[in-house]
Amino acid sequence: MGCDDSTVLRERGQREVFCGLAPIVWLHRKIQDAFFLVVGSRTCAHLIQSAAGVMIFAEPRFATAIIEERDLAGRADVNAELDRIVTRLLERRPDIKMLFLVGSCPSEVIKLDLDLAADRLMRTVGTGVRIVHFSGSGLETTFSQGEDACLTALVPHLPAAEAGAGRSLLVVGSLAEVVEGQLQRLLEGLGIERVRFFPPRSSDDLPPVGPDTVVLLAHPFLATTARALEARGATRVSAPFPLGAEGTTLWLKAAADAFGVAPERFEAVTAPAAARAKMALDRYREELSGKKIFFFPDSQIEIPLARFLSRELGMELAEVGTPYLNRQMIAPELALLPSGTRLSEGQDLERQLDRCRADRPDLVVCGLGLANPFEAEGIATKWSIELLFTPIQGYDQAGDLAELFARPLLRRSRLVELAP
Ligand code: SF4
Repeated sequence: MGCDDSTVLRERGQREVFCGLAPIVWLHRKIQDAFFLVVGSRTCAHLIQSAAGVMIFAEPRFATAIIEERDLAGRADVNAELDRIVTRLLERRPDIKMLFLVGSCPSEVIKLDLDLAADRLMRTVGTGVRIVHFSGSGLETTFSQGEDACLTALVPHLPAAEAGAGRSLLVVGSLAEVVEGQLQRLLEGLGIERVRFFPPRSSDDLPPVGPDTVVLLAHPFLATTARALEARGATRVSAPFPLGAEGTTLWLKAAADAFGVAPERFEAVTAPAAARAKMALDRYREELSGKKIFFFPDSQIEIPLARFLSRELGMELAEVGTPYLNRQMIAPELALLPSGTRLSEGQDLERQLDRCRADRPDLVVCGLGLANPFEAEGIATKWSIELLFTPIQGYDQAGDLAELFARPLLRRSRLVELAP
């Protein structure tokens, strides 16, 4: 087992991915008193509206300040306009405790210094409100990097951990509440008492960080956040990610080893849940085993998913594409992939489409833009962004994760049966 460097195909060409604004859809649900104000164009507004759905009954916690072409006339006007929008927003919505100014890629926005704007607004209109800037620009990022940028921007705002307070575990990465609760119970069962999650549910509950903080990433796309936390003195432990029964066990083991948990205790706490997860996977093995899957680069969780699908469900990996291959983050996952797996980093869309069609996969994991054409060609697809919206981490979600891959195959086989 294990992939070495020689198996990586590095490509630079046309890409087909969402931009870093997309994570607002799950981050605004996670940090429940935060507001995300995208400083962008009408395109950005349409993306956010259609990705997040229009909230009819609730006051939304995201919006777009549209910077039009006319604003090119002078930057001072744009800054004044931004100040006016933020002032009005904070007056109308006293429930907002943290305001994110989210940059985008139109040239009018790139010219604005939103870091400076956040500082200025904190001093002038943001009494009691933390104003933080990050970029969701699609020029250089893929969509999951939007979360990395958001969390990185928050790191300087984390309080310093009290000296002598003891070691604590910081789980980093946005997780659904149900997943967070399950993982917290398991970690506490192991005897790790001081466990915090980042991002928190409330902006006034930012976790402390310092030399006694052990960082465990919940997602592989948080390299910049990890580096920022390390710069604050924290230590990162490396592990496969908590997808599937095996991934969850190895992720928890990394935490257990960092805190000196006895192997017998680890076994006693994790074995029942791991056994339940394996039973849940049994239902889908027959459906998925031997089926060929092709991953287009999109979410950055492709490699952990490929590891889960090949090792726990017997799927055959045609190609595993990822937008960026950060070996430091992903090394424990690479070691578990079948040797010789074709990995690709970056994208040259046309060439990758050719390889995919030549491979004739049973299932393609890709972005929305590619899914419809593949379906029209008779190839079953799974939208990669759905894997970020859905709770998939941990033992109790292992069966649901397998089902996400089994369902499109089942739908496709029914369509074939119904075809005249
Ligand atoms: Fe489009 Fe850029 Fe706005 Fe994303 S940030 S919606 S890529 S204009």
